[in-house]
Amino acid sequence: MKIFKIKSELKDFLSQQKSLDKSIGFVPTMGALHEGHLSLVKRAKKKNDLAVVSIFVNPTQFDNKEDLVKYPKTFDNDVKLLESVDCDVLFFPSVEEIYAENIASDKFDFDGLEHQMEGKFRDGHFDGVGTIVKTLFEILNPDKAYFGKKDFQQLQIIKKMVEKHNLPVKIKGCDIYREDDGLAMSSRNTRLTKEHREVAPFIYKTLKKAKKKFGTKNANELTQWVEKQFKKQPLLELEYFTIADEKTLQTATVIEPNKKYRGFIAVFAGEIRLIDNIRLK
Ligand code: AMP
Repeated sequence: MKIFKIKSELKDFLSQQKSLDKSIGFVPTMGALHEGHLSLVKRAKKKNDLAVVSIFVNPTQFDNKEDLVKYPKTFDNDVKLLESVDCDVLFFPSVEEIYAENIASDKFDFDGLEHQMEGKFRDGHFDGVGTIVKTLFEILNPDKAYFGKKDFQQLQIIKKMVEKHNLPVKIKGCDIYREDDGLAMSSRNTRLTKEHREVAPFIYKTLKKAKKKFGTKNANELTQWVEKQFKKQPLLELEYFTIADEKTLQTATVIEPNKKYRGFIAVFAGEIRLIDNIRLK
């Protein structure tokens, strides 16, 4: 696997590859890699000539300074994992290499997608995400880019950005990869205490039960039911559960037969904020 830290060097290498007609599949990450990330890399590798991964803990998408400082960093292990799935290229730039002296986001208009759910609780988060992903797309010029449905709102926002800015890249959404007990894999899981890790599968269990109940209760009743379940679980603090339209991400009040819905959840397990979602229809 080739490792680049300098954007101009990566750019030169990839444009050379493109001139040889090689297709590029890109997976942006913040490192502390796990099987969920690797499932995206495997797909990028299978569908393209070259799989390129970036590891960059993007400061502008963190609304919480402590979360940024404590974000797990496991570079040597990440390299081993990427080599185990035959990743071709790793881009591992410094903050200065990406932002120079100006560590700030551009402002984006994602047609309101950015104001829902995570946007309500993480100020400026999606401007940060848009800024880094657009910058990386400009450096790499990938044919396809792979994003997990674990961050479903992010996936929809990236699709919107590509559409609005006419970016020449196809966005692929990949299924959520879970631990055996159902907990969605996340780099932040390693920061859970033993007690919180033990109760964390309650999140997906509750989502699955909500999925079963969908159709027997209206959206409001089902939301209240989920809220009630979390009141019985003192180690987990529900931040929000919302049933939303997959396209607009707006909270559904009435369920319409021709639309697709998901249940979205954010929960604090101690200091660690976990998110998950489930397809309802
Ligand atoms: P992150 O390193 O958390 O920024 O994630 C990088 C990419 O991996 C994003 O597109 C995430 O949605 C995706 N990802 C993270 N965890 C999972 C998972 N458990 N299953 C599928 N994709 C994931």
